[in-house]
Amino acid sequence: MMIPIARPLIEENEKQAVIDVLDSGMIAAGEYVNKFEAQFAKYINSRYGIACSSGTTALDVALKAAGIKKGDKVLTTPFTFIASSNAILYNGAEPVFTDIEADTFNISPDAIRKKLKEELDIKALLIVHLYGLSCNMDEIMKIVDEYDLILIEDCAQAHGAEYRGKKAGTFGDVSTFSFYPTKNITTGEGGMVLTDNEKIYKKAKLLINHGSQERYNHEVLGYNYRMTNIAAAIGLSQLEKLNDFNQKRQRNAAFFTENLKDISWLETPVVPEGYKHVFHQYTIKINKNRDDFADYLKNNGIGYGIHYPLTVNKQPLYKKLGYEKEEYRVAEEMSSKVISIPVHPALNESELNKIVDVIGNYTE
Ligand SMILES: *Cc1c(COP(=O)(O)O)cnc(C)c1O
Repeated sequence: MMIPIARPLIEENEKQAVIDVLDSGMIAAGEYVNKFEAQFAKYINSRYGIACSSGTTALDVALKAAGIKKGDKVLTTPFTFIASSNAILYNGAEPVFTDIEADTFNISPDAIRKKLKEELDIKALLIVHLYGLSCNMDEIMKIVDEYDLILIEDCAQAHGAEYRGKKAGTFGDVSTFSFYPTKNITTGEGGMVLTDNEKIYKKAKLLINHGSQERYNHEVLGYNYRMTNIAAAIGLSQLEKLNDFNQKRQRNAAFFTENLKDISWLETPVVPEGYKHVFHQYTIKINKNRDDFADYLKNNGIGYGIHYPLTVNKQPLYKKLGYEKEEYRVAEEMSSKVISIPVHPALNESELNKIVDVIGNYTE
């Protein structure tokens, strides 16, 4: 039996919550959504929450609400899921990439500074707290203040992650989360925009609902990006368990790090001092042929993920847009070395031991 790379944990309370919604007859947006917005915002320590149909639509609306417009340049990482920079394209804006740090996989503050000196008209910075580890927020906030940038945080992989005691998603003008089934909590499909800024909140709220506050009165060009009560009911049940899920992820990660530390040809993830890593992924670096190792895992019943096999600028879409010739040395090296192994909270002890044993027995 294959140990999957991710497995959503849906239990009795999620099922009962969905039945309650179905029985209520109010299955589209309603009270459950309002409650999920309030409780998720409270959990992260943010003022306002706007639930969306996905992490991608949350990003799209976050950028619009933060004032990103056609022709604006937005600085971001090339080492992420494509939705991060696609949201920049949806807004007619221009993604400007810059390299990452080899140890944290997150956007490099030094590289950001260098880029800001080369390109003088950058309006915003879209950071991604990758794999559940926060970016270096002291350095990033200094840069944001110095250059007066709009800061957007993509927290799709970082529900509950912290930097010096402050949660990811509370640093920027606006932040976004995803509740896709592989994420730290799920609603099936779903997302959330968080902000402390009342203007951004009002604009986002309008945009996800066809530009209307009052029924059939449309103030701006909006969208249907709403979450359903069905999804929100699942989200409310999942949110109760988020701390427990994250603790299990951290425990599983600690077990791997302890038991893989003597293997010379791989590097386990770092958790810098002052960071709370929530291990959306447990991603190791392989200093042998990564793809042979991946085949070996699969042949031995261990699911894996490559996050990500291509930097965004090398994706077919971005090649066509003219990014092909750009080089991000560290990000490209990482995309050839990284592999994520299962770390999710549904893993049991025998699965954890099997993963360590299989990796330890690799000889190629
Ligand atoms: C999952 C993810 C998204 C998109 O979320 P969806 O809910 O799948 O639309 C955006 N950014 C990052 C970094 C992600 O991991």
